[in-house]
Amino acid sequence: MLTIYHRQITETALKDRFSPRAMETIIAGNLGLDNLRGQIGHDEYHFDNNAFAASTAFIEAQRALVPAAIGTGDLTAAWTAFGRLTHTAQDLYAHSNYVSLWRAAHPRAAPGEIDPLNGSLLNGPGLRSGRLYYPLEVLSFVPGIKKLVIPLLPDDSHARMNLDSPERGEAFAYAFAAALKRTLHEYERTLSGLGEAERSAFHDKP
Ligand SMILES: [Zn+2]
Repeated sequence: MLTIYHRQITETALKDRFSPRAMETIIAGNLGLDNLRGQIGHDEYHFDNNAFAASTAFIEAQRALVPAAIGTGDLTAAWTAFGRLTHTAQDLYAHSNYVSLWRAAHPRAAPGEIDPLNGSLLNGPGLRSGRLYYPLEVLSFVPGIKKLVIPLLPDDSHARMNLDSPERGEAFAYAFAAALKRTLHEYERTLSGLGEAERSAFHDKP
């Protein structure tokens, strides 16, 4: 997903729950996975290349850091880890065919009706995510030439499959809605691993 949508989704889902400084750090953690070092060789950050198990493991590893960091008083580390796991969770819907599978089963449903956690789709044999075909994939991001490059890439490429922006068509609204709901789900799951005092420190609200 493009940075602007990761930010929008994260803010919309969480801004009433955290202090402004916590939100800033969560968003920085989320967006940080899209910096150059996070883009190359880190399929697990973005659910790319069918790295479903590795991406799920990454989410859980980041979640485990939250209580550990709060315990040592390092709230910045707790917020950053949580921000990172929200990024990966959001990318599932932009980088896989989950939206397409869900819409095939619910042809008349509106974007807001999407269930981001349908177990038979998430664990079924049809789930795929886009593969990165370098170097052409890199050119598919370059304005001006991307329209020439994208048709040259295979059907299972990230360039052809992604729902990273509204430019990708009406399915984007479903990916956005699923990512928003999933962010709230990840928040609830993370909270469920925290005690009362840890929750209060995590939220950082007066
Ligand atoms: Zn990403």
